[in-house]
Amino acid sequence: MSSSDAPKTCGTCGNGTCAAARRKQGESDEDFKDRQKLQARLCCIQHTVVVLSGKGGVGKSTVAVNLAAALAAAGKRVGLLDIDIHGPSIPTMLGLEGRMVAGPDGEMRPVEIDGIKVVSIGFFLENQDNAVIWRGPMKTTVIKQFLQDVAWGELDYLIIDSPPGTGDEPLSVCQLAQPDGAVIVTTPQKVATVDVRKSITFCRLIGVPVLGIVENMGGFACPKCGEVTPILGSGGGQAIARDMGIPFLGSIPIDPAVAETGDAGRAFMRHHQSTATAVIMRGIIDPLIATCERQAPVASGTIK
Ligand code: ADP
Repeated sequence: MSSSDAPKTCGTCGNGTCAAARRKQGESDEDFKDRQKLQARLCCIQHTVVVLSGKGGVGKSTVAVNLAAALAAAGKRVGLLDIDIHGPSIPTMLGLEGRMVAGPDGEMRPVEIDGIKVVSIGFFLENQDNAVIWRGPMKTTVIKQFLQDVAWGELDYLIIDSPPGTGDEPLSVCQLAQPDGAVIVTTPQKVATVDVRKSITFCRLIGVPVLGIVENMGGFACPKCGEVTPILGSGGGQAIARDMGIPFLGSIPIDPAVAETGDAGRAFMRHHQSTATAVIMRGIIDPLIATCERQAPVASGTIK
């Protein structure tokens, strides 16, 4: 393990308010050490952003991958954690199929590609057709291991791709990682936006700030004449943002190159940087980064 990958010794940073410095009442030795270990990892991560959606197939993983790629291109130290346990897409989207995470002494090592440190349950499946059939507590344990036992090292950003909905995985990761905030991805149709409201309510209930809504597949820009046709309707994301008083980050058009790069295992933002769609994505990502950087890095001792 390189020195930068070593978790800081918890409880010795001098922060007297750190919750991990003291044992909680009734906490076992093992639980206390475990909590300190997790806190020590999180102390090395400046900003954590969780990407959520109400429904599957709206482009949540696409946004997560491209957010990570844009951050890496901007020189940030980036981790990408895929906790979509039942349908991990990140390995495919970054061309990492079949790659295992191996490491000495029980330390899991992220797989690195283009400056992004990636961890996904997909790396542990022997076969892509295998299905993970786990109940909630098992999922929470694995998510905790991904945060605590992975040698993430010092990161500026950890981007977390969560499964759609408001189930065990988003709840566990938000409680364990205490993200700076959530980005919620939707398509414009009512059937998708109805569920976005649930995601916003979920964030409010568990105290995770909503950084904003991204509307994906907001229209198709004709490659010949440039005319934008709102194939899936328009304005759905913006309307919810207005109704629920949260920022609208922007609308990404349907672009065949986004789908092609995803299938080919390449990040769109890295390989199509000068296209109109990449400019739109950057217009969404740059203010998002600015918002995170305006916030103080996540304080130590936040684990509940
Ligand atoms: P989710 O994570 O919400 O399930 P994905 O990110 O896996 O959704 O996207 C679903 C599919 O749609 C993928 O094949 C992806 O490449 C494609 N896709 C996502 N956004 C766009 C877009 N703006 N234009 C074209 N294809 C897209």
